[in-house]
Amino acid sequence: MSELVRMISADGTLTVIAAETTDIVKKTKRIHRTSPIATVALGRLITAASMMGAVLKGKDDSITLRLNGGGPAGSLIAVSDSSGNVRGYVSNPAVEDMFNDKGRLDIAGAVGKDGTLTVMKDLGLKEPYIGQIPILSGEIAEDITSYFAISEQLPSVCALGVALKPSSAVNVAGGFIIQLLPTAMDDTIDKVEECIKGLEPITQMLANGMTPEEICRHVLSKFELEVLDTSTPEYKCNCSKERVSKALLTLGRDELLDMANDPETEVSCHFCEKKYKFTADEIKELAK
Ligand SMILES: [Zn+2]
Repeated sequence: MSELVRMISADGTLTVIAAETTDIVKKTKRIHRTSPIATVALGRLITAASMMGAVLKGKDDSITLRLNGGGPAGSLIAVSDSSGNVRGYVSNPAVEDMFNDKGRLDIAGAVGKDGTLTVMKDLGLKEPYIGQIPILSGEIAEDITSYFAISEQLPSVCALGVALKPSSAVNVAGGFIIQLLPTAMDDTIDKVEECIKGLEPITQMLANGMTPEEICRHVLSKFELEVLDTSTPEYKCNCSKERVSKALLTLGRDELLDMANDPETEVSCHFCEKKYKFTADEIKELAK
């Protein structure tokens, strides 16, 4: 089971969210049969989406992160609800592993740096909120920080990590996001910087068995923290035949009439690979 915690400093100057998403990323890999580099890239984006979803206020609110970097992985998409339940996909799950000059999986190489990170929040209003920034690093955590700075004017620190076993199975996954509140004082940022200087990678903390709450307290050791809330997010898809029909409508009339030549069309959900069958009559009905 995955776990997420939201905490606030006792002096009210910052909040921190931390999540352990190992099971969610394991399920993502199982559904999409992702290559190691795609598992890490999508796992990081899904972890970020889960944490960013968990701060939404309305029960039916949702957030979508879309990364279009022009790299060989294609587009990466992650959607979360306000409990941090998340789903996602990558257009090329089989993207081949590539390594950077440190000998580590080159996530930025797979994602690409020539494009945008788009954040769409559906808050139940007439129009969704949309923020878009140019991709800065392609390593994802820096891009999330850059999104908060540019689109929401929120100074933040973000860490995301997915570690694989030698067999390429998921070992641990998780992340944290620290955000300064408008009440932050001049020395708050200095104190945060002191805290995160020389910090081990988030994957190391998770591999040492630290819980999200312990991670928050460890990362912000100079602050006294109080728990705001906790949740146990999952990889969850809310697809239905009706939703898949709506997606089919975007293909347009000609394409649908073409599909109606087959007695039966099978359509699978992008997020969970569940298959839905449509008869020629049903497709014709949609074409209308
Ligand atoms: Zn689905």
